[in-house]
Amino acid sequence: MIFLPQEIIRKKRNGQELTAQELAFFVAGITNNTISEGQIGAFAMATYFQGMTMDERIALTTGMRDSGEVLNWQSLDLGGPIVDKHSTGGVGDLVSIMLGPIVAACGGYVPMITGRGLGHTGGTLDKFDAITGYQSVPSSTLFRDTVKEVGVAIIGQTGDLAPADKRFYSVRDITSTVESIPLITASILAKKLAAGLDALVMDVKTGSGAFMAEFSQAQELAHSIVNVANGAGVKTTALITDMDQLLASSAGNAVEMVDAVKYLRNELDNPRLHQVTVALAAEMLTISGLAANDHDARIKVNQVISNGKAAEVFAKMVAKLGGPIDFVENYHHHLPQANIVRPIFAEQSGIVQRIDTRTVGLSVVELGGGRRRADDIIDYSVGLSQVATVGLSLDSHTPMAIVHAANEDDFKRAEQMVNQAFVLGDSVQTPQASVLEVVRHQP
Ligand code: URA
Repeated sequence: MIFLPQEIIRKKRNGQELTAQELAFFVAGITNNTISEGQIGAFAMATYFQGMTMDERIALTTGMRDSGEVLNWQSLDLGGPIVDKHSTGGVGDLVSIMLGPIVAACGGYVPMITGRGLGHTGGTLDKFDAITGYQSVPSSTLFRDTVKEVGVAIIGQTGDLAPADKRFYSVRDITSTVESIPLITASILAKKLAAGLDALVMDVKTGSGAFMAEFSQAQELAHSIVNVANGAGVKTTALITDMDQLLASSAGNAVEMVDAVKYLRNELDNPRLHQVTVALAAEMLTISGLAANDHDARIKVNQVISNGKAAEVFAKMVAKLGGPIDFVENYHHHLPQANIVRPIFAEQSGIVQRIDTRTVGLSVVELGGGRRRADDIIDYSVGLSQVATVGLSLDSHTPMAIVHAANEDDFKRAEQMVNQAFVLGDSVQTPQASVLEVVRHQP
C-alpha cells in the first residue's frame, strides 16, 4: 500500500479515522525526515481540532515508541517487576527522588528516565545534577548495572528512545499544538514505554501549578493515558493529584534534594507530600504484583520509609552513579549553597487563602533555577525553601518562604513575585485532599 503524507493529513483534517498502517507510515516519515516540518505541523493541527480515537492513539503511541531503541531487561533476569512513575509536572514535585528507592526497597526494579524542567515546573534530572559527581547520563552498561544491583537508577535519557517524539514535539512547540490530549498521551507514553516497563503509575497534576489546571482536563488526560498504555500492553493506573500549592516545602534544585533526603531520613513533616508519595508507591506495588492490595502495599511502603531501607537504597544509587558515598549523612556538603539565604514576609498579616503556584514556579526560573530557553545554564543552588502552605497564618515572625538567591536584585524580584502569588485573608482554610482521584483501567 502506498501512502502520501498529504492524504493522511487531509483524512485527519476531514475528521476520518486513520488506520494503524497510515499512522505507522507518518511516524516513520517523522523519524527519517521524509515528512517535512510543515506537514508535521499540519497533521498536529488537524489532530488538535479533530482528536483521535483510542485505536488511533494506541497506534500513534506504539509507532513512536518503536521509532528508536526499546529497552529489554530480560537478559538481566531481574527477579521482580519493572515499574515506573511519571508526573505531568509541577512545582516542588520531588516525589520521584523518594519513590524510586521506596519501590526498589520493596522488591521492584525502577529504570526511571527523567527530564529537565519545563516552563514553570521543575525536572527531576536537574535536581540530581545538583549533586556533586552524580552521573545523570551514565553509559548504558552503568545504567543497567545500577538497576540490577540497586533496584533503581534515576537518570536522564541515554541512547535513542522515541526519537520521533523529539522531532514531533519541537514542531508542536512552535505551532501551538502542544495542548492536544491525544498528542500529549502519545508523547509521554512513547518515551515511558520505550523503557521496557511491566507497569506504570501516572501522576496527573491539576491546579494552578499544573499544565492541566482544570480538573476536567486532568481527568481527560488520565483516562486517555490509562486506556492507551493498557491498550499497548503496560498495566497503568493514573492518580490525579493536587497542584494548587507546592507539594514539597521547597522549589528549586538543591533545596528540593534537601527536602527529599530529609523525607527519607524521617525528618520532614509534610503530610501532603507523604500522602502523595505513599499513594503513588502503593499503587506501583499493587499493579506490579508486589503487594496483594492497597492496604498491604501501604504497610510495606511505610515500613521501608520508617526503617531507613529506602534511604539506604537511595544512598547506594547515588554512590553507584558516581555521587558521594556519604550523601545521605552529609548532603549539605555535597550540594551548592546560594550566596543569599533569607526569609521573606507578607506585607500584611493573614491566613494563606490561595497560592498562584505557577507564579511561584516562575519565581524560581527568575532566580536562575529554571530555563527560559532549552540551552540555558541553571544555578542549582537557588530557589525557595520552607514555603508556607494554604491555611497557615503569616505574620512578621512567620515567613512566606526562605529565598535562596545569587544576588540582591534576584532576591528582590523573587520576593515581589512570591508576594504576588500569595493571597491572604481572614478565613480559616480546611486542607484539601492531595489525591483527588484514582483512574484504573476498566477492561
Ligand atoms: N510532556 C511531554 O513529554 N509531552 C507532551 O506532549 C507534553 C508534556
